[in-house]
Amino acid sequence: MELQTSLLELKGVGKKKYESLNRLGLFTVYDLLTYYPRTYEDRRILTPLAAAAVGEQQAVVGVIRRIAERRTGRGLHVLSVDIDDGTGFLQVTFFNQSFLKGKLRTGMRLFAVGKIDYAFGGQGKKQMSQVKDFSVLEKDEDVTLGLLPVYAATSSLNQKFFRTLLTTLFQGIDEIAEILPGSICQRYHLVAREEAYREVHFPESSEALHLARERLIFEELYLIQCGLLLLRRESREKKKGVRHLGESRLSRAVHETLPFRLTEDQAKAWCDIRQDMELAVPMRRLVQGDVGSGKTALALLALIKTVENGFQGAFMVPTEILARQHFDKFSDLLKELPVRLLLLTGRLAKKEREAAYAAIEAHEVDIVIGTHALIQETVTFAALGLVVTDEQHRFGVEQRAALEKRAQLTPDMLVMTATPIPRTMTLTVYGDLDVSRIEHLPPGRVPVETFLRAPARRDLIYRFVRQEVAKGRQAYVVCPLVEQSDTLDLPSAEEVYEELRTGMLREVRCGLVHGKLAGKEKEAVMADFHAGRIDVLVTTTVIEVGVDVPNASVLVVENAERFGLAQLHQLRGRVGRGAYRSYCILISAARTETAKKRLSLMESVRDGFVLAEEDLKLRGPGQFFGAMQHGLPDLKMADALRDVDILLKARRAALETMESPAMRKEVAEILRLEYKELFTKITEV
Ligand code: ADP
Ligand code: MG
Repeated sequence: MELQTSLLELKGVGKKKYESLNRLGLFTVYDLLTYYPRTYEDRRILTPLAAAAVGEQQAVVGVIRRIAERRTGRGLHVLSVDIDDGTGFLQVTFFNQSFLKGKLRTGMRLFAVGKIDYAFGGQGKKQMSQVKDFSVLEKDEDVTLGLLPVYAATSSLNQKFFRTLLTTLFQGIDEIAEILPGSICQRYHLVAREEAYREVHFPESSEALHLARERLIFEELYLIQCGLLLLRRESREKKKGVRHLGESRLSRAVHETLPFRLTEDQAKAWCDIRQDMELAVPMRRLVQGDVGSGKTALALLALIKTVENGFQGAFMVPTEILARQHFDKFSDLLKELPVRLLLLTGRLAKKEREAAYAAIEAHEVDIVIGTHALIQETVTFAALGLVVTDEQHRFGVEQRAALEKRAQLTPDMLVMTATPIPRTMTLTVYGDLDVSRIEHLPPGRVPVETFLRAPARRDLIYRFVRQEVAKGRQAYVVCPLVEQSDTLDLPSAEEVYEELRTGMLREVRCGLVHGKLAGKEKEAVMADFHAGRIDVLVTTTVIEVGVDVPNASVLVVENAERFGLAQLHQLRGRVGRGAYRSYCILISAARTETAKKRLSLMESVRDGFVLAEEDLKLRGPGQFFGAMQHGLPDLKMADALRDVDILLKARRAALETMESPAMRKEVAEILRLEYKELFTKITEV
C-alpha cells in the first residue's frame, strides 16, 4: 500500500463507503492520512466506579453482574447493565440497542466510556446513559487507553469507521518516506514523517501528539515558504527586469506639483521603491499603510519614474469608482506635464476600448489606470515597466505571474494595501514580496470620533448629519445590502435612500451609489459627490476602498454588526481625510455580548492592525485569511495566527534551504509533487 493507493483497496471500504469518503474529498491513502482528527478524547485514566464523578465523562471497567431489559411507555428499548469493579457499582444503560442483549452476559468484563449521571428514580444511584464507546474485554485483555482521535464524521461514516480504517491503513502501509531534507529535520528537531502521522491519529501521549503536530505544521509552512521563495528567485534571478535610471526633470516636476511634502514614512518607502526600480532585478514590493496614510502619492511617483525612463505604467485598482478617482487626480496633477494618461473601465464602448488597446500597444499612452480585469486579461503593452496594484490583496501569485508572461522584460511590481494584515501573516501570504510600511498618518489629521448607537437614536443621528451639511460638510450612509432581500430582514441601500430622501434628510441633496448601478450612473453620482453637488451619499461597500473626498466628515453605518472590524475600519477611513473634525457613527441593534464588544472596540481603537487582530480572534481566520490567501494552498493543519512561532522557524529554514543548490532542487521536486497546481511555475532551480 502506498500513499497514492486508492482507498477502495482498503479492507472495509466497499463501493458505497468509498463514495461517502469521496464526498469528503478523500480518495487516496494520502488523503486519509491528512484527514486529521478534529480533536481527541482523553481516556487515559480508568476511573474506579466508586469515584466516578457525576457530570464528567469517564472511562470505566467492571464485571457484569446483572442485565435487565424493559420497554418504556413510548416503546423505547432499554437495556440496563450493572457492572462492579470491586470499589462500587455502576448502571450502564443502552437505548434501542436490543441486539446487544445477545452479546452481553453476566460475568463478562465490560469497558465503557461516557458521561455519568444519576439513574432515573434511583436514590443517588449512578448510571452511564450516554455511552460513547464500549467493548467486551477478553479474559486478561487490557483496555486501550489513551487519546482517541475524533474525526469530522458523517451519518454514513462514524467515528468507529474512521478509527478502524486508519488502524487498517497503518497496518497495511509499507513505509511513509520522509520528504523534508534530512538536515532540516535534524536542525529543527522534527520527528519523522511516518511517526508524525501515526502519532497524530493515535497518540501515545500528549507530548508525542504535540511533537507530531508541530512537525506536520512545520512541514506545511516550510514547503509553502520554500515555494514562495523559489518563485521569487525565478522572477529575481532568472528574469531580466527593467532597470530604471535615477530621477530627472519629469520626476522633479511631479514632486513639486504634489500639494504636500512626503512624510518620513512615505519618504522611506519611496526610497525603497526607487532603489528597487533602479536595479535590473524585478521589483516585488508590498507597501502596507493604513487607510489615508498616503499610498497614492507613492504610486504616482513610481509611475512617473517608469514613464521618465521611456516605459509604460499600469495602475490597477479593484473598482471603477477608484479608477476614475485616481485618473481625475492624476490628470489634475499632471496637467502641465507631457504624460499621456488613459482610463480603462468597463464603461468604454467596444470601439473606444479597441482604440485604447491599440494606443497602449503602439505606446501612445504612458500610464493606464483601470480595473484589474481589464488590464490583466486583455492588454498588451508596448513597453511595460511597472505595474502598481492598489488595495488588492486578492492579487495572488497566479495573477502576478500572468502579467509577467506577456512582457519581454519583467516589469517591476508594486502592491499597495491598507488591509492591516498582521505582520506574521504577511509572510504566509506575501512570502515572496519585500515589505515597506507606512506606520504614521500625514500630520494634521484629526482622529475620527467613533460612536456606537442603537437604532432608536436614528432621528438624532440624522439631525446631526443635517447640521454637518449645513456647515458645508458631506456625509456617507453605508448599508449592508443593495436591494431588498428575501432572506435577510435588513433595510437595503435603496430603501434607506428613499426613506432619508423623503424624510429626515429631505432638505439636503442625497445620492445613491452601489455596485449594481451601471458604470455610467455610478460615475455620474460619484462625480457629483466629489464636486459637492451631493451632500449625503447613501451607498454600499463599493466605497470601502480608496474613495477620497476630504470634505466628507460623517460616516453613518446602518446595521454595523453585518461588517467585520477590518472592513469598518476601511469604511471609517473615508472620513477624517481633510482638516475637519470627523465622525463615524455605527448604528446597530445587536444585542449579543460579543457583537457589542466587537463594535465597541471601534470606539476605542484607531489602529487598523489591532482591529484586524481582534477581528481574527473574534471571528476566526476563516473569513479573513480565506480571501487573502487566494492562490495559496489551503492550510490543512497550520494556522497562521496560532502557529506564529513555527511559521517563523519554517521561514528561517526555508531561507537556509535556498542557500544550497542541492537542497533547492530537492525541495522544488517535492513541491512539484505535493503542490502541483500552485507551484507549476517553478520550472527549474
Ligand atoms: P491611502 O493610503 O488610503 O491610499 P491616499 O493616498 O488616498 O491614502 O491619501 C489620503 C489623503 O492624504 C489624500 O487626500 C492625500 O492627498 C493626503 N496626503 C497624502 N500624503 C500626504 C502628506 N505627506 N501630507 C499631507 N497630506 C497627504
Ligand atoms: Mg488608496
